[in-house]
Amino acid sequence: MSADDKSVNPESGKTGRTEQSVSRRRFIQSSAIVGSGLMLTGAPQLFAATNAAPQLSAATNAAKEMKMNTQSKGYAAFDTSGILKPWTFERRPVGDNDVLIDIKFASICHSDIHQMKGHWGPQQYPQVPGHEIVGIVAAVGKNVTRFKVGDRAGVGCMVDGCKSGTCCEEHGEQYCPDTVFTYGYPQESSPTGISQGGYSNNIVVNDHFAVHIPENIRFEDAAPLLCAGVTTYSPLLKFDLKPGVKVGVAGIGGLGHLAVKLAVSKGADVYAFTTTADKADDIKGFGAKEVIVVDDISKLGEYRGQLDCMINTLPVNYDVASYVATVKPFGTYTQVGMPEGFQVTVNALALSASRVNFNASLIGDMKETQDVVNYCADHKILPEIQVISAEQINEAWESVVNKKARYRYVIDAATF
Ligand SMILES: [Zn+2]
Ligand SMILES: [Zn+2]
Repeated sequence: MSADDKSVNPESGKTGRTEQSVSRRRFIQSSAIVGSGLMLTGAPQLFAATNAAPQLSAATNAAKEMKMNTQSKGYAAFDTSGILKPWTFERRPVGDNDVLIDIKFASICHSDIHQMKGHWGPQQYPQVPGHEIVGIVAAVGKNVTRFKVGDRAGVGCMVDGCKSGTCCEEHGEQYCPDTVFTYGYPQESSPTGISQGGYSNNIVVNDHFAVHIPENIRFEDAAPLLCAGVTTYSPLLKFDLKPGVKVGVAGIGGLGHLAVKLAVSKGADVYAFTTTADKADDIKGFGAKEVIVVDDISKLGEYRGQLDCMINTLPVNYDVASYVATVKPFGTYTQVGMPEGFQVTVNALALSASRVNFNASLIGDMKETQDVVNYCADHKILPEIQVISAEQINEAWESVVNKKARYRYVIDAATF
């Protein structure tokens, strides 16, 4: 089904695939709107629009157009089954501070699966997941100065928020109470009432929450950096990694494999802990000094107090204190994996006996997001990816859950 089949003519209120609605849609999609603050992407569409509504002057027509929602199509969850299906929907109009991005690729994060399945609480459906998004700017609002039409842009886990508040400057946007996360988050401006993510052909975001994707990295390689990259980069920076520092990385999936590569690039000695034995050769190839296959939790005992710091990306409940104990006293341990119900199990005595600074970190701020993209592009730190089509998403999700992903699935948005 195409988007046009479900179109509603805003003048007549009638649903139907009329020549007029098709023309209007083309016009809207091209975002060639006079007087609305949007930059023109192509003058010829103006004539299509005036032809479509001859009874209106161009200016009146344009004024109406500026309030038009953005038409999108993508893949959505409709229930907790974990099965996604095609869906056409509407996003908000491109506001004065917004950018419209034509999505080229969106990658699959384990968080998408957890949230759509309701593992983190009840969800509103239909809901489009996806918070690793790259594409080309197709329209910008009149107040936008950081982007112009045609720029390469990326969007991660946040799409809107206070952006100028001191809380954001001091602590990062992800810790601001006003921040709107990329999907399933209440958002008044969204026609569906919630933010809708990147498994789709376009997205409208506040320009503060888009980053530049430099020319020296392919779109498909950049996508996973928007969540997996920054979520590991942010805490790794705080470890102050340098040659000789022993850093543990637990859970070598989408996040973990990037954590290994990033830590190696800083010269650290990386100890990678995985439960999947057949990843060992890959992980060595990423530059890890040692790969520990944790087929039994008691194996961690051999590493007691050995590491300076550790990042744990496991997206499942696990015995935290056993992993923490691999870090030496007063070292730092950071949790970034988000399990079902956000629950992990901590033995208080074991945790206190290791006297490690335990913390958890939520993604990274917008500056760090831009930094990790630039850093990875410049240092050729690229995720291991498999590009898939939209119809392969459900299969890919199963592979992620079954630990078969190697290591990030990237959806070609042309197939939505
Ligand atoms: Zn994610
Ligand atoms: Zn704020």
